[in-house]
Order: sequence, then structure tokens, then C-alpha cells
Amino acid sequence: MKYVVVSGGVISGIGKGVLASSTGLLFKTLGLRVTSIKIDPYMNIDAGTMSPLEHGECFVLNDGGEVDLDLGNYERYLNITLTKDHNITTGKIYSHVIERERKGDYLGKTVQVVPHVTGAIQDWIERVSKIPVDDSGLEPEVCIIELGGTVGDIESAPFVEALRQFQFRVGSENFALIHVSLVPVIHGEQKTKPTQAAIKDLRSLGLTPDMIACRCQEELEVATIEKIGMFCHVGPDQVIAVHDVNTTYHVPLLLKEQRIMKFLSKKLHLDPATVSKESIAKGDHLLARWKSLTSNYDKSYETVTIALVGKYTHLKDSYLSVIKALEHSSMKCNRKLKIEWVESTDLEEEAKVANLSEYHKAWHHVCQADGILVPGGFGSRGIEGMVAAAKYARENDVPYLGVCLGLQIAVIEFVRNVVGIKGSTSMEFDPNADEETASVVYMPDVDQVKLGGTMRLGIHETKFCAGSEDSTLRKIYGGADHVSERHRHRYEVNPKLISRIEKEGLQFIGKDETEARMELLELKNHKFFCGTQYHPEYLSKVLDPSRPFLGLVAAASGILDEILSRDDLNQKGEF
Ligand code: GLN
Repeated sequence: MKYVVVSGGVISGIGKGVLASSTGLLFKTLGLRVTSIKIDPYMNIDAGTMSPLEHGECFVLNDGGEVDLDLGNYERYLNITLTKDHNITTGKIYSHVIERERKGDYLGKTVQVVPHVTGAIQDWIERVSKIPVDDSGLEPEVCIIELGGTVGDIESAPFVEALRQFQFRVGSENFALIHVSLVPVIHGEQKTKPTQAAIKDLRSLGLTPDMIACRCQEELEVATIEKIGMFCHVGPDQVIAVHDVNTTYHVPLLLKEQRIMKFLSKKLHLDPATVSKESIAKGDHLLARWKSLTSNYDKSYETVTIALVGKYTHLKDSYLSVIKALEHSSMKCNRKLKIEWVESTDLEEEAKVANLSEYHKAWHHVCQADGILVPGGFGSRGIEGMVAAAKYARENDVPYLGVCLGLQIAVIEFVRNVVGIKGSTSMEFDPNADEETASVVYMPDVDQVKLGGTMRLGIHETKFCAGSEDSTLRKIYGGADHVSERHRHRYEVNPKLISRIEKEGLQFIGKDETEARMELLELKNHKFFCGTQYHPEYLSKVLDPSRPFLGLVAAASGILDEILSRDDLNQKGEF
């Protein structure tokens, strides 16, 4: 197993995740099996209880793990399926060590950060790196480890120390470190001091960079590269420049141009002769497809505009997988994607009083958009704005996709305005709502008190109902009779209202295994008005876009029929 650690210095949030996944992709193009681990030094056990406005979206895995959004990057770039153990947090490590201490595993010893916590981290990494994550079912050969935060933070100290020890545990020919740094431009000059300081910090902790990846606005000047090489004690081929590009899909190619694989292969003693011909061909194919995808993206000029009506729009990362699913779909439709961010409270009547210009601007975006998307969310703020947007889409034949909360919103709107139950809502927003007439109710089987990890989570099957053959959603899924997608919710459409809703034309065309829980909705006689109780964005892949999102973008681009007539819709991966 070859381990490639990606750490960061200077500041966080400079694209370590994209760099790490792009590096992983390049290993894959060599025909190798790649996995990844993300280390988050915070105390939380997982990302499930964290506000999206603080940390970005909570990504959900097949096994129900609620994890950091970077795991989404890895799954999307590397086409792999990770487990909750692939996201290591301080919370998980400490509870593991404390549990062992209570069992008496360390009997007689004083339990300490070094060696017990650092040892537990290394054992965890070794164990998890071996879990098969792709279709081959075989143990991976390369493991990318991304260390969250910046080196030098108090929180990350035990992890840095664990990695320092780990390089000796696995041997230097199996361990490489890429340190991501920032090169700011001040008065037109590329400044290397922050990078020098970051590398000094790293070395003082016992880690040596094999490569220094410099994030910068423009291409790095040769003089800057030379200066970093000289002051950071590395060769010029170990300094890589990752300047801003118009889409992150270009990053793997940017790294390839700088021949990072040449250096890493040498450092890690990778021998191409040991890779099977078949795997090499697969790797070449992957690279060719990636290249054509990015060049097609550059050549698409027509735009499709989607209004994203949500409640966490002030931090775009809150919707990272949704944005990616829209991007994947737009590339498939040969359109440039434009997202209009609409904060749902701005669409509400109160906004007229509080901030009239924001109210008009928000409605202008909704009315100008080719399609409307209401993504997932929690809590009552902004709900009425989303309901208003769903009403607008329904009444004006504008393509609409509601994801999770977005499906519940479409139902609330329909129950109020078409079925005629005024004031009907979700029990999430009004716990005292009448159980007979509330549109959305608590699922009987979820914990209502303990909030961590207790929702309906992870992959579950949805069966298409008899008679749904002509529905757009089923067609876009290639005529499948069932689909497996990832869930994260606590509430569901009120089973008591189904027949009344369906009588008016809003059909529930997909249900769970028990056929009691509504999973998919579609409105008759509408261009595209659909909802999914699950989150299809979590399984969207660069080369295989999520189907409900593809439906929305195709309908918004006016090419839904064209897309639906493709005969390769039922293929996965190569679609
Ligand atoms: N808050 C809603 C529920 O728990 C929707 C959840 C979501 O959008 N992920 O059911």
C-alpha cells in the first residue's frame, strides 16, 4: 500500500480536497486501485450534527455515515464507495481509545496521547486503507490521506505526530507528502514568505514535503518556483503550481502537465511492469474520457439557468453535492451552468417590508430561471419562500426538482392550494399540527430525542409503482423497476393524505420496500415537476450524472425528449 498524505499550511479552504482527489485520479489513470481517507481534527464524532452554514454540507454514504463533504469529492472523482470509517475525527479516535480503556485493554498503563492516541490513529488508517472500495472488490493499492485544517493547529497535533510515526511504520518508499500552501500576490508580486514559514512549521514537526503545491491566482512565475525550491529545500520539480482555473475538473490535467506522477512514481517505487495490461488500458480510457469531458465543457456556449432556492445560500459549500450534480448534468446536456442563488426568506411577504429590493431581486431570479431547484434543509426558517417558489413552478410550467425537503415543500404547496387544506404544513415546523391534515409527519421509526445519527440514513431501495412506466423519472432512470439512493430525513409525506393528493394529479410513482413510504413524486401534465425524498446528488458522478438532476437540467434546456430518447440511459458509469 502506498500512502499519499495531503496536508495544508498558511490557511484552510484553499482546495486541498480537490488537489487530493485530482492526485488520486491521476494514480487511477495509471491503472491503480485508489482509496482515500479524510482526517477532520474536530471533536464531533461526525458531521451529522454540524450546521451546514458553518462547515458546508454533510455528505451521506451508503452505510449511512454522515461525513465531511470532501468524501463526496473522492467518491465523485475516483468512482468509489467509501464507509463512515474513511472519515476519521478526533471524536471517533478518542471515543475508541476511551472505550478500550474502560474495557481494560491498557491495564496498568497510563493512557496518553503518545503513544496510545497516535497508535490508534495509525492502526485505524492501516485498517481502513485496505477496505475494497471499487467494483473490483480487491484491496486498494494507493491511499490518499487528506489532513483537514492547517498544520500547526492545536487540534491537528496528534494526527501530525501520528503521521510522523507512520512514515517509519510503512517505510519511506511507501509514504509521500504533498503540502498545499498559498502564494498571495501583493502589489503584483508573488509572495513566497507564507509558504516558507509553512514548510518550516512542517519540518519542525518531523514531516518533510515531497511536493509543495502552491495555490495561486495566476500561473507561478519561474522565479517564484525557484525561490520556493531554494528556501524550502526541495527541487524545482517538487514545486507544483495550482492556479485558479475555470472549473476544478481541469485540476487533474494541470497536475499531469507538471508531471507530478513522474516524481511520485519514483518516490513511491511504483513499477508499471507490475500493473496488468487490462488495468493500464482502463486507466488510459479514464484519462481520455476525462480530457474529452473537460474540453467539451470549454466548448459549450449555451447557458442553462437554475434558481437554487434554499436557506443556506450564504455558504455555497452547504450545497456542494447539489452543485456538482447540476454541473455533471449540464456537461451531459452541453450547457454552461448558471446557478442563481435565491435565499428563500427573500421570497416571503415579510421581505417586502424588511428589504424590498432583495425581495424583487429574488423573485426576478426565480422568474428568469429555466428551472427551479429546492434542495434539502432543516427547520422552519425560509419555508414559506420555498412554498411560493414551488407554487410558481407548478402554475407556470417551469421545470422543478424538489430534493428531500424540496419534495416535502412541493407536497405542502399542493395540499394547501390544490387539495384545499389551508394552512397544512409539516410537523417539523409545527409539532402540534393536526396529524390528519398535516402534509408531512414524523416517521414512526426514528428517534425523536437523540439527534446524532438517528435519521433514516444511507442507501435504501425505491420501487417504481405499477403504472409508472410513462413517468419521466422512471424513463430517465432508463426504465428501471427500482433504484437505490441515499437518504437523510426524519419526516415523510403523510400516508393519510395520499389518495386525496393523487386524485388531484400529483402522483407518487416510487415507494420504499414496504410500499408505505413515499419516495418519488411527479405532477401530471407538466414539463417536469418532480420530487425525491432521497438525495440523488450524493451518487452523482462526473461521468454518470444523477438522473433526477439530469432530468431537471434537460427540461430546463428544452432537450428533455432528446435525452429521454437516448438508448444508453440504463447504463451506469459509461453513460
Ligand atoms: N427536514 C426534513 C426531514 O428531516 C428534510 C430533510 C432533508 O432535506 N435532508 O425530513
